[in-house]
Amino acid sequence: MLWPTLPFDPQETLTSYADRLSMFHTGRGMERLLRDNGINLEHFVSGRVDAVTGFGEAIGHPVEAIRRNAIRVFQRGGEFRGEATSKSFLLPQAKRYCPACLAEDGGPTDWKFRLIWGFRHVQRCDRHGVWLAATGNAAASCLRIAMNEMVLGEPVQAAPEQASYLDWLRDRLDSTCSKEHPWLKDQTLEQVLTASEMIGGVLQHGHEVKLSKLSPAETEEATDIGFSICREGPEAVVEALDTIRQTSPASAVQAGTLAHYGTLFDWLERRSNAIDPGPIRDLLRDHIVKHSAVEPGTKVLGVEINERKFHTLYSLSAEVGIERPRLSCLLRKLGEIPADATEVEGANMVFEAATTVPLIEAFQTAIPLRDVPEYLGATKRQIEILYREGFVQPLVPRTDRGSVRHVVFGRSHLDGILDQIAGLPEKVTSDDEGLHPISYACQRGAGWFERLFIEILEGRVPAFRDPTKKGIGSIRVEVRPLIAAKFAA
Ligand SMILES: [Zn+2]
Repeated sequence: MLWPTLPFDPQETLTSYADRLSMFHTGRGMERLLRDNGINLEHFVSGRVDAVTGFGEAIGHPVEAIRRNAIRVFQRGGEFRGEATSKSFLLPQAKRYCPACLAEDGGPTDWKFRLIWGFRHVQRCDRHGVWLAATGNAAASCLRIAMNEMVLGEPVQAAPEQASYLDWLRDRLDSTCSKEHPWLKDQTLEQVLTASEMIGGVLQHGHEVKLSKLSPAETEEATDIGFSICREGPEAVVEALDTIRQTSPASAVQAGTLAHYGTLFDWLERRSNAIDPGPIRDLLRDHIVKHSAVEPGTKVLGVEINERKFHTLYSLSAEVGIERPRLSCLLRKLGEIPADATEVEGANMVFEAATTVPLIEAFQTAIPLRDVPEYLGATKRQIEILYREGFVQPLVPRTDRGSVRHVVFGRSHLDGILDQIAGLPEKVTSDDEGLHPISYACQRGAGWFERLFIEILEGRVPAFRDPTKKGIGSIRVEVRPLIAAKFAA
């Protein structure tokens, strides 16, 4: 155990502390202290658990605290506090620094490389509000060497608005995040910050934004815009996806997902393989499936989509077996394509499979108005009344008056009426003397046809069914009590 000891700063990287400690005790860099304690330098610098633990034990410092500030470096990525990180997300090297912090620290052997400066998304010192400056050596593991003979830079004031994600990051690093949205809580630092940067970047700089080309201030701004959305939870993120899709420069369905979501999609589709990007990928996939005509069997962001949510005019045509020009006309008639839409706009639309396909199928088997009387076993006059009263409803709501020539009725709608009639009890032939058709009862003064018919279907007037007749024509009622009731009323 080393004595006197140098306090370990929980905000400092482990290698930075090791170098300070070594300078303090041996007057040499950390290689010396490590060698004296039989610890492999390379293993220690790359954050290997055995080396870090050995270091903690050697200097007599709680190993847990020491390990929290070690950054594990692998060939292709890294790990920090149990979270997988990509290589560029968190650097252990002393690449950037805050001039104001170092001035406060004292001389080069007192300079502490803060953990938070190693995060790619951190551009400013959250304590002093100044931009981080670059050191002269991007490979050194402590500032003393990274700065070499350099003079401390002049602090440059950052934009006045503090980025709110910095407060969150600081709280996470200090383990003082108390009131995080649960959606954020389950995500790693990299998942939150990268998704934030992507969303904010596309919203702020457009779909083809190249995030690596943004200035530090722009990166900070983009990350903060995205973070202010992410911290509100998944609903807010979905709203942002709505906006991104709506503002896409490409409106054609054929333009594809990349055009709709830009860099955000490209990241989740191709460039996030090394690190799990977190729940943003599921949100975007759901959004794509919900708003695009995805062919069943297609893989979207790594998951095969089995159910079709939307059709294009093209896929719908194949599904229902109607040629596209006719289908396009039909969809206009059904109100699925707005009347004022151009041909191109219609061809670029998507149609909800769950509602459009049944509607079209109903249309294909529909019954024209002139055939409805026969279908329902009624007179032409009776159907005219029921149609006028809205009891039988056409498949497509009528818009202009008088054009009854093309009015059609869904078979299932008419069958529903027949089923109701079929539910009436059969008349007994030996006891049917007073029973008559509705039309007869109406002529005898039992009231309006439509009222009597509806009362029968609702069970308010007892009625029977003649099995040798069809539909409305098969209904039989007892006339005398109806007339008596009418006069009594
Ligand atoms: Zn500072």
